[in-house]
Amino acid sequence: MRIGIPRESRPGETLVAATAKTAAQLAALGYDVVVEAGAGAAADQPDRAFTDAGVQVVTADEVWGSDVVVKVNAPTEAEIASLRSGATVISLMAPARSPELVAQLAAAGVTGLAMDAVPRISRAQSMDVLSSMANVAGYRAVIEAAHEFGRLFTGQVTAAGKVPPARVFVVGAGVAGLAAIGAAGSLGAIVRAFDVRPEVAEQVESMGAQFVTVDMEQEVSSDGYAKEMTAEQEAATAAMYDEEARAADIVITTALIPGRPAPQLVTAETVAAMKPGSVVVDMAAANGGNVAATVTDQRVVTDNGVTVLGYTDLAGRLAAQTSQLYGTNVVNLLKLLTPGKDGVLTLDTDDVIQRGIAVTLARGDSAEVMWPPPP
Ligand code: NAD
Repeated sequence: MRIGIPRESRPGETLVAATAKTAAQLAALGYDVVVEAGAGAAADQPDRAFTDAGVQVVTADEVWGSDVVVKVNAPTEAEIASLRSGATVISLMAPARSPELVAQLAAAGVTGLAMDAVPRISRAQSMDVLSSMANVAGYRAVIEAAHEFGRLFTGQVTAAGKVPPARVFVVGAGVAGLAAIGAAGSLGAIVRAFDVRPEVAEQVESMGAQFVTVDMEQEVSSDGYAKEMTAEQEAATAAMYDEEARAADIVITTALIPGRPAPQLVTAETVAAMKPGSVVVDMAAANGGNVAATVTDQRVVTDNGVTVLGYTDLAGRLAAQTSQLYGTNVVNLLKLLTPGKDGVLTLDTDDVIQRGIAVTLARGDSAEVMWPPPP
């Protein structure tokens, strides 16, 4: 079978679904791999890197005519129309929030596999693009904050006097939050963090940060994700957010609830009470944001001099590495889908990972909607 790697069509996208190295690894699974000219240009993967790795660089039409198309962003309607009936497309799809995409894939008779629907079980960790991207993005959020912040992160004792360390407050200590805690701590900041899952306290503290507690209990579903908070729990945390944000120089928010809009946690009043020169990075901006002042993909400076960053491309700002990690996650998934290492993709819907990512399944000229998977 032929695997095609297209150039991402989303404006400003820097990522590519395969690097020269991972494309060669796909070829080693028996596939004929082709890459669209210029696909990796923004991720330090020039066409030459692919040809040097023995991967053919071809036109968009040739890529979209492949048996399997692997990309980063969900295919657009026009891209779905250029897929062959019976083909497979693998990408991020946010299927829970994209009923139109699911319907378009089904109508086109295409198998759609969502990279972002890989179940959160240990066996699937090597295929988990959300973790790969959140990890890079959490680090980059700190770099963006440090760039905006007009002071040092680390405390210093100089001949001209003492410089206090910056105080960083991280909301949500999942993959992105822990990466942010690590990066901020390594720059010398005092880091405090909060998560509704109390079991992360140990991880936070093992990284040298302080875990902020609120007197409440939070339910966590069996897949390890947080559930939405009740109104009472929200009220209990509101005062804590206000107090922590006022005391912080940098606030990094990462709180997400899968398939739901991001919880609004930091109010406009709290941002208005923050110190001038402080910085907020709202990593939940793509899902509506955790902070009232956030504008998606924008840098906003409030009247009281707080910079609020709503960038949704944080992982893409380290494009070479994120593409390499994404590509490696794809290779690991394709290893699972190619048990014979014979270049033939098979989908075993009895397997929890394969069932989990199956959004549509081509059968004849149409495709069956498989989303959502059974709980
Ligand atoms: P996520 O991106 O869905 O959420 C980020 C964090 O926000 C989570 O820690 C969540 O608890 C927190 N959060 C949600 N609502 C909040 C609120 N109102 N206030 C404060 N915090 C809130 O989650 P994630 O980072 O992708 O991962 C969640 C968990 O799953 C982590 O423990 C992670 O280690 C685990 N995980 C397991 C696997 C695996 O086993 N394959 C893979 C990835 C992640």
